[in-house]
Amino acid sequence: MDSLFSFKASDPASAQDPALEVLRSVFGYSAFRGQQADIIAHVIRGGDALVLMPTGGGKSLCYQVPALVREGVTVVVSPLIALMRDQVTALRELGVRAAFLNSSLDAAEAREVERAMVRGEIDLVYVAPERLVTPRFLVLLDRTKLALFALDEAHCVSQWGHDFRPEYLQLSILHERHPTVPRVALTATADAQTRAEIKEKLGLTEARVFLSSFDRPNITYRVVPKKSERQQMLAFLRENHPEDAGIIYCMSRAKVEEISSWLNQQGREALPYHAGLPPEVREANQDLFIKGEGIVMVATVAFGMGIDKPNVRFVCHLDPPKSLEAYYQETGRAGRDGLPANAWMSYGMSDVVSLRQMLEQSEAGETHRRVERGKLEALLGFCETPTCRRQVLLNYFGESLGEPCGNCDTCLEPVETWDGTIAAQKALSAVYRTGQRYGAGHLIDVLLGNATDKVQQQAHDTLKTFGVGKDLSKAEWQSVYRQLVAAGYLTVDLEGYGGFRLTDAGIPVIKGQQTVRLRKDPIIEKRRGVHDALRRHVSRGGSAPGGLSGEGVSRSGARGTLSPADDALWHALKDCRTELARAQGVPPYVIFHDSTLLEMVALRPRDRHAFARLPGVGARKLDRYADAFLDVIAQHG
Ligand code: ADP
Ligand code: ZN
Repeated sequence: MDSLFSFKASDPASAQDPALEVLRSVFGYSAFRGQQADIIAHVIRGGDALVLMPTGGGKSLCYQVPALVREGVTVVVSPLIALMRDQVTALRELGVRAAFLNSSLDAAEAREVERAMVRGEIDLVYVAPERLVTPRFLVLLDRTKLALFALDEAHCVSQWGHDFRPEYLQLSILHERHPTVPRVALTATADAQTRAEIKEKLGLTEARVFLSSFDRPNITYRVVPKKSERQQMLAFLRENHPEDAGIIYCMSRAKVEEISSWLNQQGREALPYHAGLPPEVREANQDLFIKGEGIVMVATVAFGMGIDKPNVRFVCHLDPPKSLEAYYQETGRAGRDGLPANAWMSYGMSDVVSLRQMLEQSEAGETHRRVERGKLEALLGFCETPTCRRQVLLNYFGESLGEPCGNCDTCLEPVETWDGTIAAQKALSAVYRTGQRYGAGHLIDVLLGNATDKVQQQAHDTLKTFGVGKDLSKAEWQSVYRQLVAAGYLTVDLEGYGGFRLTDAGIPVIKGQQTVRLRKDPIIEKRRGVHDALRRHVSRGGSAPGGLSGEGVSRSGARGTLSPADDALWHALKDCRTELARAQGVPPYVIFHDSTLLEMVALRPRDRHAFARLPGVGARKLDRYADAFLDVIAQHG
């Protein structure tokens, strides 16, 4: 390793600080981000830490850098085989001595890794929790010089979460047997309950807690009223993500299959993923998604845990998630690399109804249902809010954002509200006068004065409300009903046929004692997409948005808009990356992240010296890849 560490040592600051030295020479980054420097210094000194950081925040470096600075082997507990494999591939690519131990290795391979541990020929070993707590492995640990225990995805210890892994409960044994070896537990789970559980169950009550903001500023949040979900989504993809990888979440397996084959018919490469597919198909699809460049994964929530592909550029929800926690986690899979990403959801009345139905029909006890109901209300409130969505989201997680974010649909295209008091009275009165049994479709017919068969059969054309709603369109009435439900003036009767009923809160409204402001359905405008953002990035002369990458990058090369030549270079660099990745059987981002390629377009390094200054280019990657990419750049001179 020694030769690697000497590369960027010309800077006197890093010569003083071995952590910074590792960051620069091995990982190719110029500075720590957020709390990384504090966390890493604390752990290197031998302290225990609980690290709470959002996805994409940079958790891995918090144990990988100490692993290379402290003497001995760092044991990383990781719950998923795919995750371990990807991390180890990426580390080896950087020239780090890393390996994993899990059921995918045969006995001889495993023994090889174990031998390397005991001999100290390895810096990081990733281990599945069930293996870690076996007597055999514990004995192996006794014979190994240990640098650090890293407990990744620490929320797996929570019995209430959906990622619960019983073996995590036994991990306190590590500390009992090796009290002087520091521990760092990491998670991106945002709620306070889980945090408390992690501390208690892992015996980390004394650990220093490093809590970062859970904001994901590079994700643009959008919720659009559902009109024709497929066409809306297709338009969104064509406009913003014609060639990007992303995930589309659907509620049911059948819908996953439908949407995925429909997208393929539309000329978009898409793959299905759900628990009903045979394991080998699921695994193959996941692998294609990770190694491919522009594949769309259409999936149920079964997909996502342990996917650390950094350039997932969008996450769409065709059906709403079941809570804001789930929404945050699922959308959080976009934009790990810090470049602009989109979270897009389409949402309509029928979704509200079916979510409520599912909830009320669940087997869970009443207390549990009440909690779930509260979570659903919070989600609906988020969908219907006329204010900044990021503020609503962060607020829900106990964090406050002083100003509206400027990067969600309600900020970018401010929502117009209108005095909906009279409309609400009419809508509620239609519910009341028809006997609180009907859903939006029939009620809107009554309001619009449509004498359908059903209306005539029920003699609803004789009601006072018949035809009083001609001032609004059908779509506008749908929006009114959706908002009245979201605001809690109406509930959906789930015992019967899903008709509306007035709530106590609806009474003062129908009596005209309370005003109601409603949001106008936002017009779906042409919007700025990621492609545009990348273009702005390149035209600024580099340095990734959000201040992710190197400060050492010159900003002088401003170039106006992305020229055809830049575009050609960007694609040529991606092709070069794909070829190198294929040859090694690794995902393209393991070679270089998009942010590094973008810097190449922006700065067009001419020689190895300039190439070495790109963010994400450490000594090893400089050695292996500089020539190939410099050639491509020269050809596009
Ligand atoms: P997490 O595990 O918290 O989701 P990762 O560790 O995968 O996040 O890091 C997210 C991305 O940020 C990765 O692409 C990583 O290389 C990059 N990154 C992390 N720390 C830094 C840093 N100090 N400078 C530049 N990029 C960084
Ligand atoms: Zn906002």
